[in-house]
Amino acid sequence: MLNRKNSEQLFEKAKTYFPGGVNSPVRAFRSVGGTPLFIDKGDGAFIWDADGNKYMDFCCSWGPLIHGHNNTIVREAIVTALQKGTSFGAPTALENDLANLILTFNTFIEKIRFVSSGTEAVMSAIRLARGYTKRNKILKFEGCYHGHSDSLLVKAGSGLVTFGNTSSAGVPESFVNETIVVSLNNKKAVEEAFAEFKDQIACVIIEPIPANNGLLLQDKSFLEFLRNICTENKTLLLFDEVISGFRVGFCGAAGHYSIKPDICTYGKIIGGGLPVGAYGASKEIMSCISPEGDVYQAGTLSGNPIAMSAGIAALTQCLRPNFYIDLEAKTQRLVNEINAYAIEKKYLVHFATIGSIFWIAFSNNKNIQSSEEIDADSMKHFRKLHAYLLENGIYLGPSGYEVGFISSSHTDDNITEAINKIKSGLDFVFA
Ligand code: PMP
Repeated sequence: MLNRKNSEQLFEKAKTYFPGGVNSPVRAFRSVGGTPLFIDKGDGAFIWDADGNKYMDFCCSWGPLIHGHNNTIVREAIVTALQKGTSFGAPTALENDLANLILTFNTFIEKIRFVSSGTEAVMSAIRLARGYTKRNKILKFEGCYHGHSDSLLVKAGSGLVTFGNTSSAGVPESFVNETIVVSLNNKKAVEEAFAEFKDQIACVIIEPIPANNGLLLQDKSFLEFLRNICTENKTLLLFDEVISGFRVGFCGAAGHYSIKPDICTYGKIIGGGLPVGAYGASKEIMSCISPEGDVYQAGTLSGNPIAMSAGIAALTQCLRPNFYIDLEAKTQRLVNEINAYAIEKKYLVHFATIGSIFWIAFSNNKNIQSSEEIDADSMKHFRKLHAYLLENGIYLGPSGYEVGFISSSHTDDNITEAINKIKSGLDFVFA
């Protein structure tokens, strides 16, 4: 067993400071068991824990680190910005520069507003949708996560079309009464919701590449159907691209599927590893935002210069020729080799993938498209694999419902090493 004494001691101390010892719940390792690793440093595809153990990282800070850890260009941009001060509460040219970079190459939005997290981006975008349409209800999909704002902490009830049940204590019933929840990949449920709540739905919000509860890839036709039904009903289509944005291509899922949403939200990669979120839409829709319009939204640290410079450095590297093609090819090799091995060995496991995202599904269903299709019991296999891989120097996010990410700093040799270790891990799980 690897020595994890320092992590264990730090976690004991952390439990005296923070609920569950952490500042974000999934970090607590509850779904895989054991003690969370406290990370000391990262470089490229690797992280080192507080005991000096080295791991190849496929969590990548849950997605932001598309260039890996401690990327030289990002770090140098941060240091340069840092030397001029940390925050002014007044505009800086860096905000223009990041906006210009995004709006030049992402043709799905015309104006943007920077905030400091994905949660904030989505919360603000929902308010914008409601302000623009003058409607209250929103429709979301079971299995999509959109951050922790009140109206989105809802889970489906038992019917085809339901108001959400709160999925967190502290969220008033009256808030979730404005949120309709339906299953992914279910046109009938969406049609029924529109029939029942005609002229009341401000927006349909979806992760166009649902990646927070497994990787529940939707058919393009389902997303096109959403586009059409929204247009017919003067409802806004909101793509939450906090994960998929700048990940499956510079224009995210909207670009990947060639579907134009009315509002997009971004996070993670957009800040190069610093706290940035954003939402964007047409000039007309964005004109509703204060101070131009009457939808209020603000932030003391919004457009923070250090974070903007990290974002510029990260996104500039994404624009290199073949950047996404190379990243996807590496991911495909990992996924294809492991899937072939699983078939050969008759192991009940399948790696789903898109772009540089992968998800390990312990199932014989190779096309899981809704959360109802995920077998909770299969997570016991993930727990075993996770523990094996940690012991063998591979770090996956500590939950079988979470996806993995490959960064441009994962070399071909790194991928080969990971393939071999994951194959041994599967031998161990199914022994
Ligand atoms: N939307 C999506 C699709 C996400 O994946 C996340 C975070 N995983 C959020 C919103 C919330 O972002 P944050 O954690 O930065 O608040």
